[in-house]
Amino acid sequence: MKLKLEHYGKGLAKGLGVTFRHVLRHRITTQYPEERLSVSKRFRGYRMVWDEERCTGCATCAKSCPQGNIEIVTSTKRDENRYVVEKFEVDTGRCIFCGLCVEACPYDALFYSREYECSTYRRSDLVLSRDQQKRTEGKELSAYFHPEIEENLPAQTLLLDKAGRRSQSLWD
Ligand code: SF4
Ligand code: SF4
Repeated sequence: MKLKLEHYGKGLAKGLGVTFRHVLRHRITTQYPEERLSVSKRFRGYRMVWDEERCTGCATCAKSCPQGNIEIVTSTKRDENRYVVEKFEVDTGRCIFCGLCVEACPYDALFYSREYECSTYRRSDLVLSRDQQKRTEGKELSAYFHPEIEENLPAQTLLLDKAGRRSQSLWD
C-alpha cells in the first residue's frame, strides 16, 4: 500500500509540472471565428471562380473533370459568332479538388477561390450555379495555377510564425 502511495505522489507531481509548464507557455491557438488564419496563396478553395468575360464555353474544363462534376450548357449567338454560357454548374460536394479543370482551361477563365467555409445543412447547397461562381469584384482568387496573381495575396499565417512573433514581443 505504501509503495502505491509513493507512486501516486510522484505521478501527481509530474502531472502538475506539465500543467505549470504549459500555463507559462504562450498561446498559439486561434480563436476562430473571431480570429482567422490566412490560408496558402495557392489554396484550392471550395468555390470555383468563373470569369464570364474570358469563358468561351469550350467545355474543356467539363471534359477534364474526372468526377463529371461540371455541367455546361451553351447557346449560339450567331450575329456575334460566339457561344453564350447559359449554365455553368459545379457540384462541389463531389469535387476532389484535383485542379484539372483549372489547369485545363485554355482561356484562364477558371480559378479556385480561397474560401474554406463550406458546411451546409443540405447536400444540394453544394451544387453551385453560374451566378454563385461568377467572378465579381471582391472575390479573392487563389493563385493555384495562376502565379501572376500571387504577389497581390496576403502571406499565409503559420502557427509557427505566430508563436515566434509572440515570444519576440515579450522581449520588445
Ligand atoms: S477540381 Fe477536379 S473534381 Fe473538382 S470540378 Fe475540377 S476537375 Fe472536377
Ligand atoms: S475551359 Fe475555360 S473557357 Fe472553356 S468552358 Fe471551361 S471555363 Fe470556359
